[in-house]
Amino acid sequence: MSDLTCARGVDLLMDYLEGVLSVAVKESIDRHVGGCPRCLAFVASYRETPRVLRDATAEEIPADTKRRLEKFVRELSKRSPER
Ligand SMILES: [Zn+2]
Repeated sequence: MSDLTCARGVDLLMDYLEGVLSVAVKESIDRHVGGCPRCLAFVASYRETPRVLRDATAEEIPADTKRRLEKFVRELSKRSPER
């Protein structure tokens, strides 16, 4: 099965949270997030974010929110997924 890394996970998490992934991919993410505090925190913080990020057009996302999210994702993918 596909072994998910955090970098790959972050890439897929957006799709995951939007519910556009296949069940198989979704399950492998579920497994990874279940054992990965970093990705779990990412999912949690994303879910706390108002639906504006999903429903609104990019222009309607508050610049500050967008910047914080982008910074967070960048830092998350910067770290080595392997320990
Ligand atoms: Zn992870």
